[in-house]
Amino acid sequence: TRTPVNVTVTGAAGQIGYSLLFRIAAGHLLGPDVPVKLRLLEITPALKAAEGTAMELDDCAFPLLRGIEITDDLKTAFDGSNVALLVGAMPRKAGMERGDLLSANGGIFKPQGRAINDHAADDIRVLVVGNPANTNGLIAASNAPDVPKTRFSAMTRLDHNRAVAQLAKKTGAAVTEISNLTIWGNHSATQYPDIFHAKVGGKNAAELVNDQAWLENDFIPTVAKRGAAIIEARGLSSAASAASAALDHVRTWFHGTAEGDWTSMGIVSDGSYGVPEGLVSSFPVTTKDGDYQIVQGLELDAFSRERVDASVAELVSERDEVAKLGLV
Ligand code: NDP
Repeated sequence: TRTPVNVTVTGAAGQIGYSLLFRIAAGHLLGPDVPVKLRLLEITPALKAAEGTAMELDDCAFPLLRGIEITDDLKTAFDGSNVALLVGAMPRKAGMERGDLLSANGGIFKPQGRAINDHAADDIRVLVVGNPANTNGLIAASNAPDVPKTRFSAMTRLDHNRAVAQLAKKTGAAVTEISNLTIWGNHSATQYPDIFHAKVGGKNAAELVNDQAWLENDFIPTVAKRGAAIIEARGLSSAASAASAALDHVRTWFHGTAEGDWTSMGIVSDGSYGVPEGLVSSFPVTTKDGDYQIVQGLELDAFSRERVDASVAELVSERDEVAKLGLV
């Protein structure tokens, strides 16, 4: 039998945690034959709620779940961790300046990066979900100097999945017929969902759709502002879809993208496509066995270039702000 994989989830008592943990325990993160041990990190006041979730996890009698530890201590949470899902973050409250938001999250992601550096297993892989995810990822990676930067990622898979769903709807295709879609840039309203290289049933998506007005006025804003639309409709932010995307992200990272296809991940830029080195930005990547490679050589026309640049400019300004705060 296999040794269990240690999976750390922060913000475990939150909404996303409540969707995520049951599916991890059911085998949807790493596969149906991989046992897992869960480490749930929460802030002290939320420990009791996390215990409630853990009681329900026990009550599911998941065959793959080999243990649950609940803690507010970083060392305990990340000790020997193989996969860390950093979900807990400081939400933006009304009237909060962006600098305040970044500084509050620096207080969370700087010590977590340090704890990952000092205590996680040698094969650690990190996914940041908590917003602002790209810059939180940058903070965590910057504070883990002994961990290769390629082990840190930020989630744009939900944006990717949203874009796949919208494109499927527009073309009447099944989601499984859509490939090679890319989210570029920041997980924010400036993100750029790119269909110019995407395919629908093997045909170029942009040519098939052939509707620039839809692309500009419908598709791009619908994908970029989907989170707000869900809050408006549900009265709560999206949680199950975010959890599902986090599972997709990690599963694809380990199990690989299909031949000829790619996925979108926020990763530390190596300078590809003119994205300044070191920024955590979303790129088209192929994956295999927990490693990724940026897809090279895609042509970006003026329309795409302008949008990628705008989102990257936002990432630059977030980075400058956290640099000023001494967080990176
Ligand atoms: P959620 O579980 O709904 O969300 C958690 C984080 O994920 C937020 O930063 C949220 O950003 C982000 N997120 C990313 N993508 C999405 C998406 N598509 N839809 C919704 N959220 C998304 O938040 P809760 O408030 O329910 O729970 C957070 C938990 O984290 C709390 O239990 C809190 O105690 C805990 N926490 C733990 C910390 C720790 O372990 N050290 C530190 C801070 C908090 P956004 O706010 O922009 O929606």
